[in-house]
Amino acid sequence: MNLEQVKKLESKLLLATYDRYPVLLTKGQGVHVYDAKGRKYLDFLSGIGVNALGYAHPAISKTIARQAKLLIHTSNLFYTEYQGKLAAGLTKISGLDRAFFTNSGTEAWEAALKLARAYAKEGCAAGSEPKWRILALEHAFHGRTFGSLATTHKEKYRAPFTPVVPGVEFVKFNDVADLEQKFDSTVCAIGFEFIQGEGGIRPVSREFAQRAFDLARRNNALLIADEIQSGMGRTGRWFAYQHYGILPDLVTVAKPIAGGLPLGALLASERVSQCIHPGMHGTTFGGGPLACSVALQLLNLLEKQKFLKRVQKTGEYFMEKLEKLRASHPAIKEVRGLGLMVGVEMESDDLAKAVVQQMLERGVILNRTDETVLRFLPPFIIKNKHVDEVIAKLDQVLTANSRQLAGMAQRRSR
Ligand SMILES: *Cc1c(COP(=O)(O)O)cnc(C)c1O
Repeated sequence: MNLEQVKKLESKLLLATYDRYPVLLTKGQGVHVYDAKGRKYLDFLSGIGVNALGYAHPAISKTIARQAKLLIHTSNLFYTEYQGKLAAGLTKISGLDRAFFTNSGTEAWEAALKLARAYAKEGCAAGSEPKWRILALEHAFHGRTFGSLATTHKEKYRAPFTPVVPGVEFVKFNDVADLEQKFDSTVCAIGFEFIQGEGGIRPVSREFAQRAFDLARRNNALLIADEIQSGMGRTGRWFAYQHYGILPDLVTVAKPIAGGLPLGALLASERVSQCIHPGMHGTTFGGGPLACSVALQLLNLLEKQKFLKRVQKTGEYFMEKLEKLRASHPAIKEVRGLGLMVGVEMESDDLAKAVVQQMLERGVILNRTDETVLRFLPPFIIKNKHVDEVIAKLDQVLTANSRQLAGMAQRRSR
């Protein structure tokens, strides 16, 4: 089938939830993906931060093939080898004590919210007054299921489905006064991304994060870190909160965790884990042997091949080059990011949209988030030469657009 045929079929048969780029992808290799016409794209989005080791990584493909022949699924009614081993790896790198495995990011976030409510209710956070308010941040994104949706800030995501789960309030981003005003002993948890992803690659300030941690301690509420996009080494440390020297009570992980297979995890401290008992929560698919064996392989590779250092270095190189580009292109307002989680704030949403499209035409994949921000989440395996290619093409695209804009302004003034 070609692109037109696929488009026609989908437009008739699928719910119209996605606005796809007009490209039919058929395979990938390393940092590149290929479309049905054999065109090659340099992928600086990696399936929205999923394909940390790029495409068709031999060790990942091999693990999938081996495990597929043994056991793909069993249900959580039985023991398999990999959940415990993977939990050992994840607790070691995170500093937390226990894990619960899910199929996706939103499901890990749901589990975190449920655990926070259960913890408050079970008297683990003993007190007589009601304690079920949850604080989230403006511009936060935590997923699309009802609980996650209630903590996701964008009105357009929530409005068609109200009423969402009650009890959530949004704190103004990095506004300590607002945080202090909304935080009291009726709060059971505050949850946020230390670096917002969908919200435009915005890091939470040190002061805000520390204050949130202190207020959570004082009010016996939980601090939940959403590391679904920023976790597993993306920022040059295993988790973004590690840049802040803060240990959350709950951490959610997903996107890159299983080399492209659907898997998520909730990591919890021992103290909080004590309020969950058999039957209270569960999933059919979550933590299956196929996804978990691949996740274990991925974690081993990330550790053995010293990817944290590599992500740090390539990330610094990328940011430096982007800053240089900003100096010659006033349409770039700001460059933000950590490691290989990078955002470039453009002066308008139209320009950001045009840049994404023209980069795609030149064979580079990135996307736009929060209207005006170009988002880059490349695979960890990129080299400086790939950064150079993206920078050179961005330079071309921005130059062409500024000429066009200047031309338009001239015509208007005539
Ligand atoms: C993608 C994302 C989610 C949702 O994950 P899904 O797997 O799409 O459900 C939640 N939080 C953050 C920060 C994300 O980037």
